[in-house]
Amino acid sequence: MAKTPRLLPENPRLFRARVLRTERTSPSMQRVTVTGDDLHEFPYLGFDHWFRLFTKRPDQDVFRMPDLDGKKWWPTFLGIPEAVRPHCANYTVAAYRRRSDGTAELDIDFVVHTDHRGEPEGRAAIWACGARPGDELAMLDQGCIFDVPDGTSDVIVAAEETGLPGVVGIAASLPRDTVGRIIQEVPTAADVRELDAPAGVRVTWLIRDEVDAHAVPGRAALAELQRHVPVDDRGYAFVVGESTLATEGRRHLHRAGLPKSRITFSGFWKHEARKSVPA
Ligand SMILES: Cc1cc2nc3c(=O)[nH]c(=O)nc-3n(C[C@H](O)[C@H](O)[C@H](O)COP(=O)(O)OP(=O)(O)OC[C@H]3O[C@@H](n4cnc5c(N)ncnc54)[C@H](O)[C@@H]3O)c2cc1C
Repeated sequence: MAKTPRLLPENPRLFRARVLRTERTSPSMQRVTVTGDDLHEFPYLGFDHWFRLFTKRPDQDVFRMPDLDGKKWWPTFLGIPEAVRPHCANYTVAAYRRRSDGTAELDIDFVVHTDHRGEPEGRAAIWACGARPGDELAMLDQGCIFDVPDGTSDVIVAAEETGLPGVVGIAASLPRDTVGRIIQEVPTAADVRELDAPAGVRVTWLIRDEVDAHAVPGRAALAELQRHVPVDDRGYAFVVGESTLATEGRRHLHRAGLPKSRITFSGFWKHEARKSVPA
């Protein structure tokens, strides 16, 4: 199997953008489509291409975004006075289109989640749900995480819904002779999407609310992954989403014989034990 293109750009570039439109594409996913003057230059790699997203915080009147290109953006970002520093979160390119008029559009799919009172939570997700055409944002290109080594025998991908935009891109970008498995957990049956996966890649959807709507995201994907036995030690695994899925998924695959160097894992967020709903 061919190696996929890698990865963190030499000199990560900041793209300024504005919202074109928004759409609730499924019960758990809010899509924000953006464009920008230089977005046609975004070096889209497919797979799980991701970026740092900067948006206005609810307590700010205007969106102020200094230039912070490059690998050393973090100290510059922290140097912005707290009152005007934008919110920063990590998101994946859900789709990227260059249009015939020379401009480009990029879709971002935000998982909509709620707190113990059922109120929307997460600054980025709340921003996405309230975004209006013309709202400003910025994206710092971070390349891909998915990185199949040369000579890989089969690929195993496991994720909950925050990994779904990346899984959609990975499925469509994999060489067509890839063999393996995708385990994808989503909150509801209406969140299931068409995956353009190679014929040799078996896709398993796990629907959380058909078993336990209140289960912690990622636990069903982890249980299914723990039943999976790698065919040999030349496979490649990509396990992302809630922190326990990522860390326990990696532990299982390593114990089952896959070298650590062949397992990409990333905790995208951490579940915190919720207090019960106040009466
Ligand atoms: C490389 C990478 C790519 C990612 N791509 C995407 C993507 O395309 N789409 C996407 O939706 N997410 C994606 N994520 C995950 C996203 O960055 C986190 O969910 C992040 O916490 C969202 O930021 P926020 O500001 O909305 O919430 P925060 O302010 O970080 O969190 C607020 C509260 O919400 C909880 N929380 C955060 N996310 C969830 C969730 N999904 N379900 C339930 N509770 C949650 C936190 O535990 C916290 O208690 C990605 C993460 C990484 C590292």
